[in-house]
Amino acid sequence: MADSNFIDYVKILCRSGKGGAGSRHFHRAKYVPKGGPDGGDGGRGGHIILRGNSHMWTLLPLRYRRHIFAGNGQSGSAGRSFGKDGEDVVVDVPCGTVVFDAETGKYLAEVTFDGQEIKLLKGGRGGLGNWHFKSATNRTPRYAQPGEPAIEKSIILELKVLADVGLVGFPNAGKSTLLSAVSAARPKIADYPFTTMEPQLGIVSYRDNRSFVMADIPGIIEGASEGKGLGLRFLRHIERNAVLLFMVPADSDDIAKDYEVLLNELKQFNPQLLDKHRILAISKSDMLDEELTEELRKTLPEGVPYVFISAVTGQGIQELKDVLWRAVTDDSNRLATVDISHQDLAESHRVKEEDDFIFEYEPTAEEEEEAEDLQSISADSWGADFDYDDDDDQFWDEDVEEEAEDNK
Ligand code: GDP
Ligand code: MG
Repeated sequence: MADSNFIDYVKILCRSGKGGAGSRHFHRAKYVPKGGPDGGDGGRGGHIILRGNSHMWTLLPLRYRRHIFAGNGQSGSAGRSFGKDGEDVVVDVPCGTVVFDAETGKYLAEVTFDGQEIKLLKGGRGGLGNWHFKSATNRTPRYAQPGEPAIEKSIILELKVLADVGLVGFPNAGKSTLLSAVSAARPKIADYPFTTMEPQLGIVSYRDNRSFVMADIPGIIEGASEGKGLGLRFLRHIERNAVLLFMVPADSDDIAKDYEVLLNELKQFNPQLLDKHRILAISKSDMLDEELTEELRKTLPEGVPYVFISAVTGQGIQELKDVLWRAVTDDSNRLATVDISHQDLAESHRVKEEDDFIFEYEPTAEEEEEAEDLQSISADSWGADFDYDDDDDQFWDEDVEEEAEDNK
């Protein structure tokens, strides 16, 4: 469907920022002819981070974002100035987003809760400036470290809806009507089947500013598990629901039988679905009088809690919410109860140098060796007290002077 606003699959090219180069600058001022190396370190490249956002329900915002590039680190400069770090990119994704490597198809990570951060690509480290490398034997190091390169990865994001309550019922049971009655979602409603062509999600507000997520999911009907109707494509979304709300209309010929058929469909698809907490709503109860209601009570399936509801008159809706809330917050069912308030990110969410990223630059053996050599030089020279005012004029030659000019 071209105008669909439910997107559950996107492919994006991501690239971290490359590290800025260290500077090879030499200090030069009018009365300081032999100032020595003072090239600063390059800044690190930007990271790419995915963050769970419980206010997002679809990958739609990413649909036209073909690539995501973080900023490059800037080079270091004179006076031991650090280059600016490249800008990080934090990409918000809905909770329930699964991340795959697009080339290998390998599973990489999953975003399950609000504020969760997946550190995907680490920005390249900046190179050390030349002043790190001065030593007793080399006072004019004309060498500075280059920054680490950027890394590029193509990823696939796939959304598995994390709804607390999934609606299960034949077409026309009144699922969409219920969803629009209890939430701000506005699904299409009509008295013909398959009006619901894509999962619809609504946030149901409950007492005391609490809320839970209800999903109207198409496809759980006659032979859906064999690929009939809309097939299985959407069925995977209910694997995540904590509670299943079965809906059978009051004017059904046999409520218990309808319930059995629905139950069997789920079992065919995935027997584990039967482990989920189930509740039965008898919809369109406004069509019943008290006498009929009492009659029907005797014919209901056993072992499942039920509520008579009418999305039209509001009958039983609060009771239904109460029953659902209890089931959703029952620890044994609990999966994703959405907290609507925004909170500052905890310390643990911030990116630290030693954090593990899924992908980071891996130096070659050669580069590794080189880095080790440099490390030993800079370790030697740390804190070493160089006296540039001694009589030894040797090190300040023309060549270096030229280079100092170049570096300006
Ligand atoms: P869905 O296919 O399960 O999503 O069902 P819909 O929500 O699209 O509703 C199917 C039909 O049942 C529509 O004509 C609705 O107006 C009607 N309907 C839904 N809820 C009620 C209700 O509580 N009472 C009555 N009388 N009709 C309802
Ligand atoms: Mg519908």
